[in-house]
Amino acid sequence: MFESARLKLTLFYLAILLVFTLTLTVSFRVLFEHEYKRSNDAQRSSARALFLRGFYVPDEPRPYNDFTNLQEDQAGLTRQRLNRDFVLINVVAVALGGLLSYWFAGRTLKPIEEAHHAQARFAADASHELRTPLTNLRLENEVFLRQKNFSEKEARELINSNLEEVQRLEGLSSNLLALTQYGNTPLKLKRVPVNNIVADAMKLKQRNAAGRKVSFKNEAASAAVLGHRDSLAEAVAILLDNAVKYGPEKGTVIIGGKRDDSHYVLWVQDEGPGIPEADLPHVFERLFRGDKARSSKVAGYGLGLSLAQIITKANNAELKVRNAPNGGACFMMRLPLAK
Ligand code: ADP
Repeated sequence: MFESARLKLTLFYLAILLVFTLTLTVSFRVLFEHEYKRSNDAQRSSARALFLRGFYVPDEPRPYNDFTNLQEDQAGLTRQRLNRDFVLINVVAVALGGLLSYWFAGRTLKPIEEAHHAQARFAADASHELRTPLTNLRLENEVFLRQKNFSEKEARELINSNLEEVQRLEGLSSNLLALTQYGNTPLKLKRVPVNNIVADAMKLKQRNAAGRKVSFKNEAASAAVLGHRDSLAEAVAILLDNAVKYGPEKGTVIIGGKRDDSHYVLWVQDEGPGIPEADLPHVFERLFRGDKARSSKVAGYGLGLSLAQIITKANNAELKVRNAPNGGACFMMRLPLAK
């Protein structure tokens, strides 16, 4: 599909090049003709003046006519040479232009091709993630229906399990929606105190933290950044959520922050095992889940960090991750300070 698009684009570039070179050639050709005629006319009138004054060789009967004939012959030869050279130049220009156009078309289409492949991969991964809870739902209900007798307790268990799967589907679809929304709509950035963002995020994840008896420790220095409060709180909440999920029970999650030139660096550090070196370059990819996250059955879809990164970018900020020297993952958000 992309090869034929590349060829079409090459032809399109080549057509533009042809129009350009042909216009130049025709213009030069007309100009040359015009200039040549003007110069010949000037020579002829000088020659006529000389002949009239008697500067001619007496034994040549028609010197003036011979001169003009000679001029015409020369003009014919020059025209022939010019035409041949112009054709040659155009052929070389089209050949070189064709190669260059093919190369340029490849370069133009490369990012589109990459985005297309990423989109296709994402669609495949997303449908796989959606299929798992749907299959669970179907299987559970099918098995249940095959039972002849069932108690009220069993029915309740089934409904609870169904509800869990439905919640999973809801979470997945709202994350997918948020991913596209934040990527497409520009945010209105305002002056926001960092402590407000952190307080909002902690409030959002307080229940999750309480569930694992994890405590949040806010050590972020006060400052105001230029950003969008709700979206930044959502991004920090994702980092807190991961810190709670992947860190130990009864652990502590530290939220730190300090000024750094014209920026403010806000970080979230946990006491968990950290992220394997091989996973570090991939954690922000959509639907990426580390092996441990999958095998330990920690809830999630692999969309949290990609959403956090899209939100960060929409706030003209940067999100990075590293493993802290004493263990644990440390996510750092670099935000522009408000003036
Ligand atoms: P999810 O948590 O739903 O799997 P995320 O996009 O939030 O998706 O994270 C992607 C992966 O990055 C996780 O599956 C996990 O392997 C790794 N990860 C993220 N945060 C942490 C953390 N604080 N500690 C260890 N691993 C983490």
